[in-house]
Amino acid sequence: KTEVNIISGALELRRKTVRDVMTHLEDAFMLSLEAILDFETVSEIMKSGYSRIPVYEGDRKNIVTLLYIKDLAFVDPDDNTPLKTLCKFYQNPCHFVFEDMTLDVMFNQLKEGNKGHMAFVNRVNDEGEGDPFYETIGLVTLEDVIEELIQAEIVDE
Ligand code: ADP
Repeated sequence: KTEVNIISGALELRRKTVRDVMTHLEDAFMLSLEAILDFETVSEIMKSGYSRIPVYEGDRKNIVTLLYIKDLAFVDPDDNTPLKTLCKFYQNPCHFVFEDMTLDVMFNQLKEGNKGHMAFVNRVNDEGEGDPFYETIGLVTLEDVIEELIQAEIVDE
C-alpha cells in the first residue's frame, strides 16, 4: 500500500504545481529588515521553530534575503544587533520560482540544494490598470514536495 501511494504521489508531482503546496505568504513567519535582534525578537524566532526566516524590506511581499537560525549562533540579545547587520554579513540568497512550476521540476531543484532548500513563489499580477508585475505569494520547501510525494503529513520535531 505504501508503495502504491508513493508511485501515485510521484505521478502527481507532474500534475501539481508549487502553488498547490506552498505556504501562503500571509502565513509565513518573517522578519522586517529593520528588526532589532533583542531578547524579545530572538525569543519569537526560537518559538516559531523554523530554521529559515524570510526577511522583507518595507512590504512583506518584498523579500530581500533569508535568515538561517544558525546565523544567530554568535548573536548576543543584549547587544541589540540590527538584523540588517547580520543580513549584510551573510547575504544569504533567495531563490524565486513561478507559481505554475510543476512539483517534479521543483523537487529536482530543491534536492540539488545549490539554490537552497527554500524557494519563493512568484506570480504575474496583471489585474488592475497598470503594467503587469511579479508578486511574491508564498514559499515552498523540500518538505512540502516530499509530503506530496508520500501523500502524508510530516510531523516536525
Ligand atoms: P523547518 O526546517 O524550518 O521546519 P521545513 O522545510 O521542514 O522547515 O518546512 C516545514 C513546513 O513549514 C513547510 O510546510 C514549509 O512550507 C513551512 N515553513 C518553512 N519555513 C517557514 C516560515 N518561515 N514561515 C512559515 N512556514 C514555513
